[in-house]
Amino acid sequence: MKFQPDSTKDGLPSYSIRPGIAFPDWSVVRSPVAREALLAIFEVFDMDRCWGGYTEAEDAVRTAILLHYCKNGKPPAVADLMSSCGMDEAQVMTSLRNLKGRDLVVLDDARGQVTGAYPFTDRETGHRVRLGDTEVNAMCAVDALGAGAMYGSDTEIDSSCRLCGAPIHVATHRAGRAIRQVSPPETVVWTGIQYGGQAATSLCTVIAFFCSEDHLNGWRGNNSEERGFRMSLDEGMETGMAIFMPFLAGSDRHGAPDGQVVAAQPGIGSR
Ligand SMILES: [Zn+2]
Repeated sequence: MKFQPDSTKDGLPSYSIRPGIAFPDWSVVRSPVAREALLAIFEVFDMDRCWGGYTEAEDAVRTAILLHYCKNGKPPAVADLMSSCGMDEAQVMTSLRNLKGRDLVVLDDARGQVTGAYPFTDRETGHRVRLGDTEVNAMCAVDALGAGAMYGSDTEIDSSCRLCGAPIHVATHRAGRAIRQVSPPETVVWTGIQYGGQAATSLCTVIAFFCSEDHLNGWRGNNSEERGFRMSLDEGMETGMAIFMPFLAGSDRHGAPDGQVVAAQPGIGSR
């Protein structure tokens, strides 16, 4: 299975990453702002770099990394990947280097160790996601909002206002596909558009929560050159779901925290 550039019937960019699974999942995107933000993100990303020639081996290693993060709150060691993917060390390392080149995985070259895989990172980002009994750092606000739907699990997210540092708490339900509760209720998401070769250190740093519209505007006043989109929590979640649900959907490794296999069900995004 190789990457196939594709487009939906609406002419939206779409990439086949696994049999029957397209990236992004446009079916969950209902709001115009989520759609515009996704289009803007895909404009600054080199999507051919991400997905061109994407192989089954790379997909197997990447899904194993994501599932390990979901279950353990940390990335797997190379030995874990060798055993979960049935590969030797050279095969795992080749896939890891390719995934790093695609900016799908963050790798510490000196140690040969994975330190991040979107939406997760070992770095303290201030976006903490609880998935079942596990806690993990998300790369940014949209990654935090999309992680539960990717894994098929409700989540609790702890973050803070980018301007004033006030705590922000978000709870999701419906297998991570809908917002259950937000505190404070006026919380908004800002999706900035900025890319410098690695999303973790560029795009992800300008996608954040704000405790209110006023504080978003206050922050934007100091960062007026920032291009981006103001979103409600629901709109931020749509954006995250569109990006992250395909990451594990249709993979035979897609499992829920209780061990049940969750079948991919493209098109289900109701709240
Ligand atoms: Zn604030």
